[in-house]
Formats: sequence, structure tokens, C-alpha cells
Amino acid sequence: MNFSVLNGLRGLLMNRIPSQCAVCRSWPSAPVCHDCMMRFGQARKRCRTCALELPAQRLHTQCARCLREPFGLDACFAALPYAFPWAELVSRYKFDSQTGWATFMASTLLDQPAVRDFLTQLTPDDWLLPLPLSTERLAWRGFNQAWELSCALHCQSACRATTDASLLLRIRHTRPQSELQRSARLENLKGAFAVEPLRAAELKGRRVVLVDDVMTSGASLLTAASVLRQAGATHVSAVVLTRTAPT
Ligand SMILES: [Zn+2]
Ligand SMILES: [Zn+2]
Repeated sequence: MNFSVLNGLRGLLMNRIPSQCAVCRSWPSAPVCHDCMMRFGQARKRCRTCALELPAQRLHTQCARCLREPFGLDACFAALPYAFPWAELVSRYKFDSQTGWATFMASTLLDQPAVRDFLTQLTPDDWLLPLPLSTERLAWRGFNQAWELSCALHCQSACRATTDASLLLRIRHTRPQSELQRSARLENLKGAFAVEPLRAAELKGRRVVLVDDVMTSGASLLTAASVLRQAGATHVSAVVLTRTAPT
């Protein structure tokens, strides 16, 4: 049984079995109840290239920083703020191995028409690539949360892009980005990503969408994007579940 079928079954089960809302504990409920989604999960206006939250009244589709200098991504989408209660749910997903959350996370992203439209216009020649983990971190965690999210996104939408977890590699174990100041983050990631050497030709002239669960400074996505562009990718965008607030 492949990943997509398993994800599909998991999605069906999560939709059928009554459960407790993970935020307010109301019961029975969807994984997060309607009231909590309305209170904490409303879509916000975001910069189209870095997904930073924008004031609702701002006319421009980009933030001031992206207007000043290109960000390095052609487009970037985020569904939720990396704040209460989502930061805690992401930790449970990632650190307590509650991989079933990938289904909820994908459906939350796909509830945003812009994300759904963006993913469904991709073709089988385009790539949907999870941000990779180092071998060490993958062995420690047991799964790549971004890969689970990519599979769930693919499975729950009409996205025809090809998902692959072995084309973009993380070849160097680095300190967790969360431990570092903004200025040290790009330095920490130097040489961390590479394209599988025998498959570089598969990126020539292609569009790539990177997938991850959390975006803070964006240093990981930007470093990966630059490696993909060097291999010949023409467009590199990102879809992330959560995005930190402007600092
Ligand atoms: Zn609730
Ligand atoms: Zn921006």
C-alpha cells in the first residue's frame, strides 16, 4: 500500500470518527472545531512572495522588504500564524510523532482558494518537494513532517505535480535554526542542501514548489531555492503551513 492510499485512509478516518477539538477540548468535533477555526484560523492577507502578514488595508500585494529587494521565491503561501494554538499543534505533530495531523494541515492549506488554485495549475512536469531533513534528524524523528504534508497536499487536491523526497537532499546536519539569531541562520545553512547529483537534469526548466510546516526567517527555503535554481529550475515557490509574525 503506498503513501497516498494510506494518507487517503487516514483522512477518511479523521473525518468519520468523532474526536475532541485539540484546542478547546469540545467533543465531539473535527480535529479542530469550527469555533476554534473561526477564532484562530481565519485567512489573513499575506505578502505574495514571503507570506508575511500584511495589514488588511494595504493595497500592495508585497511587503516593504520584498518590494525593496527580491526575496528569492516566486510565490509563497502560508495558512496560519506560527502562534497559539498552531505552534503547539505543530510541535505535537513533529515532536510527538502525531503524523495524522498532516491531513488536517493539508486541508487547512487547501481551504485557501489561492493555495488550491496554485497547486491545481501545476503539471506532472513540475515538482512538489518537501524541505528535506538531514539523515541524522530523520533517524531521530522517524519521519519528515514536510514529506507527510506534501503527500497529504497531493492526495487531497487535484495537484498533478510530482512529489519526491529524494531529489532535493540535506547533506549536512546543522544546528536547529530556532537556536540562532537571524543573521546566523543563512551562514548555518551554507552547503546544507544539494540536488541528487544523478538527477540534476530533472530540474532543468521546471517549476518547483517547496513544502514545509514552519517558516520563520525563510533562510532554509531560500537556501534550498538557490540550490534548485542553480540546477536549472525556472520558478521556485513555497507552501508552508505556518508563518511567524513580522518582527
Ligand atoms: Zn475548539
Ligand atoms: Zn514579503
